Amino acid sequence: MFAGIGSAPPCDMSLGIYLHYPFCRNRCSYCDFYKELYDSDLQIRFFDALTIETELIARKYAQGRRVISLFIGGGTPSLMPSDRLAAWVKQVRQLFDVEEDMEFSIETNPESVTLELLTAFRSIGINRPLFGIQSFNSDLLMLMDRKHSPRDSHRAIYHTNATGFRNFGVDLIFGLPGQTANMLEADLEQLFDLAPPHISFYQLTIEEGTRLASQVADGRIRIPEEEMNLALYRLGVRKMEEAGYKRYEVSSFAQPGYECRHNLGYWEGAEYIGLGPSAHSFVDNQRSANQSSLSLYLESLHKQQLPRIIDKSGIEERMTEAIMLGLRLTRGISREQFQKRFGCSLQSRLNRKQYDLLVESGHLISDDDSLRLSGEGFNLIDEITGRLLSK
Ligand code: SF4
Repeated sequence: MFAGIGSAPPCDMSLGIYLHYPFCRNRCSYCDFYKELYDSDLQIRFFDALTIETELIARKYAQGRRVISLFIGGGTPSLMPSDRLAAWVKQVRQLFDVEEDMEFSIETNPESVTLELLTAFRSIGINRPLFGIQSFNSDLLMLMDRKHSPRDSHRAIYHTNATGFRNFGVDLIFGLPGQTANMLEADLEQLFDLAPPHISFYQLTIEEGTRLASQVADGRIRIPEEEMNLALYRLGVRKMEEAGYKRYEVSSFAQPGYECRHNLGYWEGAEYIGLGPSAHSFVDNQRSANQSSLSLYLESLHKQQLPRIIDKSGIEERMTEAIMLGLRLTRGISREQFQKRFGCSLQSRLNRKQYDLLVESGHLISDDDSLRLSGEGFNLIDEITGRLLSK
């Protein structure tokens, strides 16, 4: 449910908070997330600015909302000094109404995970560490410029179990240059041995402006053809299902009960606040993004101003977005929720001819309650979504 712009939200409105920590020790070849090279002085200024941003945001949005998830991404959040992180979490708890069993996730790079770090995480209230394992193949890791080894990944999960975390997740990438089905299978087998409750299974994308993009453009590196990527995705889905994981979103797989609550909020149109440079927010039916520049972020908050750029798009874009995001979910889009949220039927927003064809071909499953993709439909999600939304 959404409050209209300017109206007071009901007091049980749930809110997710995302923090973008903008530092890394190196730049991985494929990555286009906003980050700066780690600098301890800049980091101190970042935390000072974050304290101001959190205060300003709480003044505007805390009332009437309850925080149900906190997610720290980046960047490399495992580089954060525990005392500054603990102080920020304390501030959030003081300024916001925080649900007692809030999901609290943090992304980490395996090479920076130690027993001490995980123990500090637990004492702060983090209950869901995430590990950017990506692959267990040393050559592929090197090709991505990742700084960890397969051994680091094993050690990180070993420490996680030793520290008593029951809920944790890992990221795995497929579609890497030179990756074969056998290589992916070997990665999955090692992963299943570690039994993570949650797996994010992403296809490598070539992002403009990255080192990988120029290596691909000048022919130094070849990435798999689309057909190969599809075969790898299918293989991954089948292996994960055989291992007891359920796909609940196109790239997300979980043991029962371990779906990511925070990300479900994004896909289902719940409100969230993003803090830190480049972080996005969706609140009071309005999207906004912080500028992707640490210097502008620091400068703006130094003047006690939020570094946000407001997205002027309106209801039409919200509806398109709700369809695009909802189709990513295995449970699809609830017709009732769509009607309630936008005051019009889901059906009225779809291309009728394409809808009929896709239902008939078995790519779409449609009933009175929801619209969702079939297993085969998930393999063609981008094309299907485009067709359904075409005029
Ligand atoms: S992939 Fe992660 S660790 Fe690598 S540069 Fe990007 S944010 Fe930093």
